[in-house]
Amino acid sequence: MVFDMPACSGCGNCAMACSFHHKGEFSPAMAAISILEKEDGRGFLISFAEENEGKKIACTGCRECVGQCHPSEELADLIKEFVRRRKERG
Ligand code: SF4
Ligand code: SF4
Repeated sequence: MVFDMPACSGCGNCAMACSFHHKGEFSPAMAAISILEKEDGRGFLISFAEENEGKKIACTGCRECVGQCHPSEELADLIKEFVRRRKERG
């Protein structure tokens, strides 16, 4: 599920935190969160994996990444929305 995050700097800390917390390795490829370039406008697109995809884990909504993000409130809001929408789908 992809969200627009205008305040995101693209630093990648969230993906490092996610992969280390869940897999014990600093590997963005394993992280549930991905930072994607936008064609225009401020910030980046943030994608949360809904299911395990190869090495990539599904986002559990644990919020471990939030503590490593400077615009943390914005990231926390996206995770809340991700969890809400996923529940809605059943
Ligand atoms: S909330 Fe999702 S993206 Fe963030 S650390 Fe937890 S599993 Fe990873
Ligand atoms: S969501 Fe936060 S931690 Fe992740 S790349 Fe963007 S600014 Fe960095």
